[in-house]
Amino acid sequence: MKFVYDFTEGNKDLKDLLGGKGANLAEMTRLGLPVPPGFTITTEACKVYLATGEEPAALRDEVSAHLAALEETMGKKLGQPDNPLLVSVRSGAKFSMPGMMDTVLNIGLSDASVEGLARQAGDERFAWDSYRRLIQMFGKTVLGVDGDLFEEALDAAKAAKKVTVDTDLDAEDLKKLVTAFKKIVEKETGRAFPQDPREQMDLAIRAVFESWNGERAKLYRRQERIPHDLGTAVNVCSMVFGNLGPDSGTGVAFTRDPASGQQGVYGDYLQNAQGEDVVAGIRNTVPLAELERIDKASYDQLLRIMEILENHYKDLCDIEFTIERGKLWMLQTRVGKRTAAAAFRIATQLVDQGLIDEAEALQRVTGAQLAQLMFPRFDENAEVKQVARGIAASPGAAVGKAVFDSYTAVKWSRSGEKVILVRRETNPDDLDGMIAAEGILTSRGGKTSHAAVVARGMGKTCVCGAEELEVDTKRRRMTVPGGQVVEEGDVISIDGSTGKVYLGEVPVVPSPVVEYFEGRMHPGAEDADELVEAVHRMMSFADRTRRLRVRANADNAEDALRARRFGAQGIGLCRTEHMFLGDRRELVERLILADTEEERDASLKALLPLQKQDFVELFEAMDGLPVTIRLLDPPLHEFLPDITELSVRVALAEARQEPHENELRLLQAVHRLHEQNPMLGLRGVRLGLVVPGLFAMQVRAIAEAAAERKAAQGDPRAEIMIPLVGTVQELEIVREEADRVIAEVEAATGTKLSLPIGTMIELPRAALTAGQIAEAAEFFSFGTNDLTQTVWGFSRDDVEASFFTAYLEKGIFGVSPFETIDKDGVGSLVKAAVAAGRATRPDLKLGVCGEHGGDPESVHFFHEAGLDYVSCSPFRIPVARLEAGRAAC
Ligand code: ADP
Ligand code: MG
Ligand code: MG
Repeated sequence: MKFVYDFTEGNKDLKDLLGGKGANLAEMTRLGLPVPPGFTITTEACKVYLATGEEPAALRDEVSAHLAALEETMGKKLGQPDNPLLVSVRSGAKFSMPGMMDTVLNIGLSDASVEGLARQAGDERFAWDSYRRLIQMFGKTVLGVDGDLFEEALDAAKAAKKVTVDTDLDAEDLKKLVTAFKKIVEKETGRAFPQDPREQMDLAIRAVFESWNGERAKLYRRQERIPHDLGTAVNVCSMVFGNLGPDSGTGVAFTRDPASGQQGVYGDYLQNAQGEDVVAGIRNTVPLAELERIDKASYDQLLRIMEILENHYKDLCDIEFTIERGKLWMLQTRVGKRTAAAAFRIATQLVDQGLIDEAEALQRVTGAQLAQLMFPRFDENAEVKQVARGIAASPGAAVGKAVFDSYTAVKWSRSGEKVILVRRETNPDDLDGMIAAEGILTSRGGKTSHAAVVARGMGKTCVCGAEELEVDTKRRRMTVPGGQVVEEGDVISIDGSTGKVYLGEVPVVPSPVVEYFEGRMHPGAEDADELVEAVHRMMSFADRTRRLRVRANADNAEDALRARRFGAQGIGLCRTEHMFLGDRRELVERLILADTEEERDASLKALLPLQKQDFVELFEAMDGLPVTIRLLDPPLHEFLPDITELSVRVALAEARQEPHENELRLLQAVHRLHEQNPMLGLRGVRLGLVVPGLFAMQVRAIAEAAAERKAAQGDPRAEIMIPLVGTVQELEIVREEADRVIAEVEAATGTKLSLPIGTMIELPRAALTAGQIAEAAEFFSFGTNDLTQTVWGFSRDDVEASFFTAYLEKGIFGVSPFETIDKDGVGSLVKAAVAAGRATRPDLKLGVCGEHGGDPESVHFFHEAGLDYVSCSPFRIPVARLEAGRAAC
C-alpha cells in the first residue's frame, strides 16, 4: 500500500485517502495554481498508527523519498543551516473539523538554521519570529506543554518593552524570547527542544495522528455525527511566509458571502503575519477589498483564482492564502459552509450562471435548511445586547423571563407569563418546566444532551452548552461574562438557530419564507427578498421532479386550508378524536357509560350531526383533493375523567355525606376501563368492534357529509381509514358494516358515493400479513409512530425522557427512531408490507402518516420504498416537498 502522495499525484476525489485539505491542495496543484509544493500522508497510515501505536513500517522510507524529491524541487534541504527548507505539518480529515486538530508551522528551524533563514531572507527579525512561533506551536501541540506558559512569556516580553503588538518586538527581543521558550520546553518536558529537523517533522506527524483522538476532536465528531474511524491525513507543505514585512501577509477569502450568498469580495487580510494570526484574532484584520490598495497585482490574481475555483468546483469555495513579498500562494480551499439562506440563493445563482442544472441545485439544499428558514426570527435591526453564545440545539427564537427551576416555570407559565427555563443541564425531572417554557437555555452539554434532545423532540427553542454563563440555580440567578447578574424574572431572549443569548426582549419577526408559503408575500413582488425568490424556484424544481405526493395531517378546516397553501395534495390523516373533545366530551362520556341501547343510541344520535358538520367543512376546504379520515383511535379512558381526581371527589362527597351516585358510577366505569398499557389496549379497530354503533356513526357522518357536498356541487374525496388492524378479519367485519351504512346513505340521498376503505399498517402482524389484509383494504397508510413503538417495544410517550439520552450518548443510535425511520428494522417491515400488499392488489394506494412523513431522511426512504405519498403536519409540508424532489434526482 502506498502511504504518501505528492501534491501532483492526488485530486479532489481522493478525500477518503488524502483528507479534504490534501485532496484539494492536489486539485489546485493540478489546476496549475500557485500551491507551495508538498506531499500528503494518507488516512490509511493514520489508521495503522491509531490501531497499533506505531507508524506503518514502510512509512519512514516513503516519507524520506518524498522529502528528497521536495528538497530537489525547492533546491534546499530541510533545516539545512545555510539555506533551510521549512515545512508545515498540517492535519486534514475527510470532513473539515475546524480548529479541532493540530498544525505546526516552520518545521526545520533550529539554533543553526535560524541564522541561515535570517541571511537568506535578509531579515533577522523575521527569522527569530518564525523560530519562536515554531517552539511555541511545537511545544504546545507536539510536546504537550501548557500553551499559556508561552503566552505569558510573550506578554512579559511585550510588557518589558511597553508595546502591545508582537510586531513591535525586534530581533533582539525575539532572540531572548526564544531562549525563554526553550527553557519552558526543557523545564516542562525534561528535554531540550529537538534540533534535528527530521525528528521535528516525524514528531509533528505523529502528533497530528494523535490529535484525531483528542477530546475536542472526539466531541466535535460526536456532535457532527462524523464517524470515529476515518482517521486524518497529514500534509507536509513547504513554507511560504506572510510575516516577511509589509509586502507580505495572509488572509482568508470566500467566493461569495457565506452568510447571504451574495457575490462579491468577502474575506479578511492581515499584513505581515502568519496564517494562525488571522484565526487567533491576535491583531485586527482588514476587509479583503483593501488588499486592492495594498497589493493590486496579488489582489487581481486572487480574484482570478477565485473565479477559476468557483467555476471548477461549481460552488462557493473558501480559501486560505499567503502573500510572500508580493507573490501569492494558495494554501487551502474547500467547498465552503454556508447558512441556510445562502444555500438557497447560491444554488439558484449557480443555475442562472449555467454552472449546475436543477437536479444538482436540489442536492445543494436540504429540508433541514428550509425548516430553519421557516422559524420566526429575531429582528436583525433590533438593538440588543448579546451576552453569550452556546450551541444552537433546537431552532427558533424565544423570549421570556428567566426562571431557574421547573416548578417556577410551570407556575409562572400557568399565570400567563412567558418563561425561559435556565439550567446548568436538564434531566427528566425538568420535563414539566421544559414543556411550560418558551425556550430552554443550559450552560452545559452538547447537541446530544438531555436538553437538546428533548427540546428538538418537542420542537422547542433550545440553546445549550453556553459555557460563559454561570448558572446558580440555588440562588436563582446567572452571571453573564462581564459580571452582570440576571435574576429570576429578568427578560432574556435566546436564538436556537445561532445559539445566541441576549439580555432583554428582542422583537420577533415572522420568517419571510413562511409569509411566502402563506401567500402573503409573492416572489417577484417589490417587497419580496431574494431569499423568497430562491426558495420559490427551488420549490418548483422539487415539485417538477418529485414522484411522491405530499399530504397533510390536519383535523380541521383551518389547518386544511393552511396545508393547502403550503402545497398539500390532500389530507393523509384526519384524526377524529380531536373532534370528540371540548363540549362533546360529555356526549362521549355518556356513550361509554350507557347501560341501555336507548341511552347509547341517544348519544350517538347527538354526536352524528356534529361530526358530520366537521367533515362538511373539511371536504369544502380540501375540495377536489383526497381526505383520509381515521376512525376513532385512542383508548376510551382518554375521554373519561382522571382516576385520581375522581377518587378524591368521591371520597370527599362520601365524607361530607353528599349525594354522589353519578360520581361513583363514573368511578366504577373508569376502573373497569383502566388499563396498564393503554397503548396496547382497547383502542383503534378494537373499539369499533366492542362499542356498538360507534364506527357506524362515524362512517354515516362521513357519507352524509360527502353527499351534502356533492349536492352543493362540491368534489369531496373522502377515504375511510381503520386504525390498529392486526388481522384481516377485524377489517372485514368493520368493512361489512361500513359498506352497509354507505349503501343506506346512498339510497337515502340518491347520491352515488365513492368512499374507499383502507387501513393503517402500524402493528408488526399487520405488516407481516399485509398480503391478506390487502384483500379487504383499498389503501394502506403506514402508521410509523405506532409501528416503531411496537417493533422496538418502546413506549413513545416515555422513552425520550427516560433513557434515550443515554442511548444517544452511547451511540446505540445516532438519532431517535421516532424522529428518523429505522430503516433496518421498521423500514424492512414497511418494504415487505408494500411488496405483499401490491402482490395482492396491484393498484393498492400506499402512504405514510406520522412524524416520519416530514423527516428528510425518512422521506428519502419512503421514496425508495415506492410509496405514493407521505403525510405530515402542515408546517413540514414544504420540507417534505423539497426532500421528495431531492430523493427523485
Ligand atoms: P486548519 O485546518 O486549522 O485551518 P491549517 O493546516 O490550514 O490548519 O494551517 C493553519 C494556518 O497555517 C492556516 O492559516 C494556514 O494557511 C497556515 N499555513 C499552513 N501551512 C502553511 C505553509 N506551508 N506556509 C504558510 N502558511 C501555512
Ligand atoms: Mg486551514
Ligand atoms: Mg397509531
